[in-house]
Amino acid sequence: MKIICIGRNYADHAKEMKSEVPTEPVFFLKPDTALLPKRNPFFIPSFSNDVHHELELVVRISRVGKSIEERFAHRYYNEVSVGIDFTARDIQALCKSKGLPWEKAKAFDGSAPVGKFVILKDDQNIQDLDITLKINDQIVQEVNTSKMIFSVNQIISYVSQFITLKIGDLIFTGTPAGVGPVKINDKLEAFIGEDSLLKLNVK
Ligand code: MG
Repeated sequence: MKIICIGRNYADHAKEMKSEVPTEPVFFLKPDTALLPKRNPFFIPSFSNDVHHELELVVRISRVGKSIEERFAHRYYNEVSVGIDFTARDIQALCKSKGLPWEKAKAFDGSAPVGKFVILKDDQNIQDLDITLKINDQIVQEVNTSKMIFSVNQIISYVSQFITLKIGDLIFTGTPAGVGPVKINDKLEAFIGEDSLLKLNVK
């Protein structure tokens, strides 16, 4: 399986990063080794002094698809969760300044913890979910998915022009504003609505 991550999908996050709001989706990949086994802590990697949390809605692909039309994209998923796109911000800044790829900053082991998946109910609109991240019981990121620049269906349509989507692939759909560093002994908890789906200790 693969993990596809969308960059700059909320205007307020693009602004806090002093990045332009994109005119088409920006994406990058993480390998399956970026997943964090359940109940494992997240270890801050030794190569970074500035690892940031990025709270994101995560969609699990349920059908194989290539060049999927936007109007059919909803048939390719039925489960969602929340995940953290951990980012070594110092390394990323270095990569960006040299025009190099971001993998060192984004794709390292354990950099993509994902919570428990929940099935989307018939009355739930994927573009109207409240997602929240608390650190040590304080809210640090919260947004409604209606604020995405590119909807989940637009993302699936766009990405599948280039890459075949397979069952079990995950799409991290971008982070809202409020990203910031994590430190040893932080306790992260992420929610969709009132449902706590991910708990994580930082070591
Ligand atoms: Mg991200």
